[in-house]
Amino acid sequence: MNLSSADYLPYGLGTPDFVDVGEYKVHRDVVPYLEKLSALVASHGFSLRIESAYRSFERQLSIWNRKASGKLPLLSAEGVPMPVPSDEEELMYAILTWSALPGASRHHLGTDLDVVDANACPENYEVQLTPAECDGMFAPFHSFLDQVFGSDSSFGFNRVFVPGRGKIRPERWHIAHLPTSRQLLDKFSLDALRHIYENTEIACKQVILARLDSLAEEYIYPYFI
Ligand SMILES: [Zn+2]
Repeated sequence: MNLSSADYLPYGLGTPDFVDVGEYKVHRDVVPYLEKLSALVASHGFSLRIESAYRSFERQLSIWNRKASGKLPLLSAEGVPMPVPSDEEELMYAILTWSALPGASRHHLGTDLDVVDANACPENYEVQLTPAECDGMFAPFHSFLDQVFGSDSSFGFNRVFVPGRGKIRPERWHIAHLPTSRQLLDKFSLDALRHIYENTEIACKQVILARLDSLAEEYIYPYFI
């Protein structure tokens, strides 16, 4: 397969021409809208801080493989460390509970951000990105974002991982600039992803390839919004 550099972008491959926002990389087209959203949020007493933005295929692959080998903790649906299953299919679904498939993470796009309200963070607090934080210290920030995303002045941003859409757990901290991400996802092809896996040392490779169509229906396509 002969992929040009732009063809690689939906999978976190290639060398994207993204902009540094603090220590994170963000898609160039998103930056002006992010500035508008940050200013709106600030005018209501919040301080939008990015906790994660662009992630490369290599980085997501490293997370995936380290979880499979037990080098990173594998967490159950309840968030409790669990033993690494010996069955490959069980292992794959266990990793998918908290981690996206490399090549199919929306963080590859540079259009999606994990955000918190810096003003609500206690000093020296290490953000975990959990539902408990969203219902706790960041609850006022998230209900303000709900209002913004429900209005016609959301600058193109919205949440993606919401209840009732696919099998990925709801993630209120994850927001996306939809008009920009749609342009990238238009170029996504499951055949290209299959080809990438065939040429990658990825844990659970055989079962991922065997189940790729159903994985896409449950973990990928429902979030192409
Ligand atoms: Zn995220």
